[in-house]
Amino acid sequence: GFKCGIVGLPNVGKSTLFNALTRAGIDAENFPFCTIEPNAGVVPIPDPRQDNISAIVKPEKEIATTMEFVDIAGLVAGASKGEGLGNQFLANIRETDAIAHVVRCFEDENVIHVANQIDPAADIEVINTELALADLESCDKQLLKVTRTAKGGDKESIAMKALLENKLLPQLNEAKPVRALELDENEQALVDQLFLLTVKPTMYIANVDEDGFEDNPHLDVVRAIAAEEKAVVVVICNKLESEIVELDDDERAEFLADLGMEEPGLNRVIRAGYELLNLHTYFTAGVREVRAWTVRVGASAPEAAGVIHTDFQKGFIRAEIVSYADFIEHGGEQGAKDAGRWRLEGKDYVVQDGDIIHFRFNV
Ligand code: GDP
Repeated sequence: GFKCGIVGLPNVGKSTLFNALTRAGIDAENFPFCTIEPNAGVVPIPDPRQDNISAIVKPEKEIATTMEFVDIAGLVAGASKGEGLGNQFLANIRETDAIAHVVRCFEDENVIHVANQIDPAADIEVINTELALADLESCDKQLLKVTRTAKGGDKESIAMKALLENKLLPQLNEAKPVRALELDENEQALVDQLFLLTVKPTMYIANVDEDGFEDNPHLDVVRAIAAEEKAVVVVICNKLESEIVELDDDERAEFLADLGMEEPGLNRVIRAGYELLNLHTYFTAGVREVRAWTVRVGASAPEAAGVIHTDFQKGFIRAEIVSYADFIEHGGEQGAKDAGRWRLEGKDYVVQDGDIIHFRFNV
């Protein structure tokens, strides 16, 4: 599964967001919700297409695809120096696939701000500096290593040394994230070997007040920073979200309608995490179960089969596919077949978002 770590300074609304996310998970019908550790929760990816497929298939059960969110509290200035539990937090971040960086954009005199004023640019800088310092340490170590091996003429070491000296170290010395660099394919492959923190895809979660979605100068600041470093921004009121998840379905619909919202803002956070990781969804649909599965954009049919079971990938023969649009338009698999919209695809087929697939395989 894929993991998104929630980071940010103390008192910016991380736990409020995390609790709302994991509470929302409990409400998903038939979903085997589980919390792995107190600070980790598996959250279903909201996908209205699954409901539309189920309305046709009428399965015994529905299973959403999921993403794990981890609340990584305690990242403060000095973390990279191992102050307090700092190093542990950095280790936790290293294990994630993406980062959700919560930034306080709401004013509330009852909620103490660690630096006594709401200043998203300064807050972001504190966190990003710690991450950059941690990466700087990794890169310095690597430089020592490849400087030795480069002397022997090892081509990859020479390339790594150049990359470190010319691009990575200067960038990190300015406390800027490595993901903001323009890198070619070879450089990217080298960077991947370093397991850096600042290359992880990042979204800024601008936590605003109920009335802070528009004309909010703090938001403009966050958007400008994100644009510079190839990050995305999700604007949300975590406090409101934590109230929305407490409601039952009818109350929630009414509450959202009153606010002029089509769905909880949490869904945008979950989807942004999904998109950030370049993931998309295919479905398996039978009377026993309609289920959504996650694959990387660009995954082949056998790779997609492997998400269900490695044996499906090993023994892959072919995939029987109906696109989501055809499935809905023709009232399901039989209708799509009758309309000539049912396809047999081989091992080179690249799975498309929303495909409804039956795999044929040897066991
Ligand atoms: P964390 O330390 O980052 O995990 O922050 P918490 O989620 O514990 O939130 C700190 C305090 O801020 C709590 O009292 C929350 O109720 C409050 N808070 C969180 N989000 C909002 C918001 O959008 N608006 C307001 N006014 N308060 C919020």
